[in-house]
Amino acid sequence: MDGPTKGLQTITLLSQDARLKGRPKLCSDCGFCDTSMRPLMAQSCVFVENRTAAIEQRVHGRARATADEQLFGVCRQVLAARLREPNPHAQWSGITTRLGALLLERGLADAVITTRAVPGTRFAPQPFLARTPAEVIGSAGNKPCLAPGLSLLDEVRAAGVRKLAVIGVGCQVHALRAAQAELGLDELYVVGIPCSDNVAYPDLQNFLSIVSRSPATVVHFEFMQDFSVHLRHEDGHLEKVNFIDIPMVRLGDVFPSACLACFDYANTLADITFGYMGAPFGWQWVMVRNARGEALLDLVRPLLEFRELLDAGDRRTAVASYLAGLASPRRRPPAPVRKLIAAMMRWRGPKGLEFARSVIEMKMLRNLQYVRSRFGRMEARVVPAHVYAALEPYGPAYAQAFGRALEPRTENQEPTQRPALGAEPR
Ligand SMILES: Cc1cc2nc3c(=O)[nH]c(=O)nc-3n(C[C@H](O)[C@H](O)[C@H](O)COP(=O)(O)OP(=O)(O)OC[C@H]3O[C@@H](n4cnc5c(N)ncnc54)[C@H](O)[C@@H]3O)c2cc1C
Ligand code: SF4
Ligand code: SF4
Repeated sequence: MDGPTKGLQTITLLSQDARLKGRPKLCSDCGFCDTSMRPLMAQSCVFVENRTAAIEQRVHGRARATADEQLFGVCRQVLAARLREPNPHAQWSGITTRLGALLLERGLADAVITTRAVPGTRFAPQPFLARTPAEVIGSAGNKPCLAPGLSLLDEVRAAGVRKLAVIGVGCQVHALRAAQAELGLDELYVVGIPCSDNVAYPDLQNFLSIVSRSPATVVHFEFMQDFSVHLRHEDGHLEKVNFIDIPMVRLGDVFPSACLACFDYANTLADITFGYMGAPFGWQWVMVRNARGEALLDLVRPLLEFRELLDAGDRRTAVASYLAGLASPRRRPPAPVRKLIAAMMRWRGPKGLEFARSVIEMKMLRNLQYVRSRFGRMEARVVPAHVYAALEPYGPAYAQAFGRALEPRTENQEPTQRPALGAEPR
């Protein structure tokens, strides 16, 4: 395996192939293997062994208990909130970076791992160790590409940081949590953002060039709850592209294998997660997971306003139809039909938390199928048990569509005999 080699100045500009060269087949380049902690990779990497259940017991004190927790992870509270004075440069209102800044201001953290843009780009990520509140606030906004945030762990140690806050995505948080005891920190605050279908920077540029009429002027974009991508341009105008109109065939194999074998959309091992998908439009979706998460929410609470979460519609038919399409892909309908489908989805589709449930279930189904078809022998290690529990209502439809059970085959059945660690070709 290569590394620790790649300079953070350039790494995130590289293609997926260049970045993942010499790495295991499933690797999201989370940064862990660029550090002196690389010998701990086998115990830490989510793609070697998904240890979600054990880590949840350790950091949240219990296992997932409800149907919603199978999808969203352990939650003490789920809220819709936003900053009363939003940061116009933030992805949403900017709670995430505001909280990171507060941790520094109050002396609760000495440094924050966060991700700014590579100079001269808008969206190429450059993880860095912020030491001042202004630096954290300056890192607001998504750089929606693979970012090796954990590569800063050696710098953390060298700088003598004892109280660390980390803002990161699920694969980073899994490795961080698994190796937490070895970090030698007095305090660790883990602020999560949801994540799925991440890409390398050149693939993001390609995506923008395919979906937008003016890719060079896009300053902000997001996959919205109204079933379309919203792209905001330099002059302030908003371009909307229905999901169903995105020509996936032209995008090619844009998603790294790791992201297609990822089952932690909601960043369930963080102390607190700030997303948007389960919240009403314009609000943030807050999932508080443990006592530390509650303390973090209390820290930022005076700056927030709250509203009721929305939860409407019924996702089950749409998810079952998606499942059938996974097993037998259909041809893309012509443009007028797509327009009608998009309008129907907006009118009749699930809303709020029900929308988030549908998105997570579809990703789970797609990624389970991806692992089974491409990395079948790794299923027992890479797919956590909660995926089967979450998808259990679709068991009969799955069996009908794929001609096999949703549940994993038992230990003594071929082909999912559990290989010894390291025996699996990766
Ligand atoms: C690739 C990606 C996919 C996402 N997908 C979803 C989704 O499907 N559903 C959902 O609800 N939310 C998703 N999010 C999270 C969401 O878009 C917002 O980042 C989150 O809600 C925080 O908003 P904010 O205004 O509080 O953040 P801000 O205050 O603007 O701060 C954003 C924070 O994100 C960090 N960041 C930016 N880019 C990266 C990166 N590439 N890797 C790691 N950290 C980064 C920055 O360091 C910063 O700390 C995704 C984020 C990313 C980066
Ligand atoms: S995902 Fe992270 S821990 Fe796993 S192999 Fe890649 S760099 Fe290493
Ligand atoms: S989709 Fe999963 S594996 Fe890929 S970057 Fe996001 S959290 Fe990591």
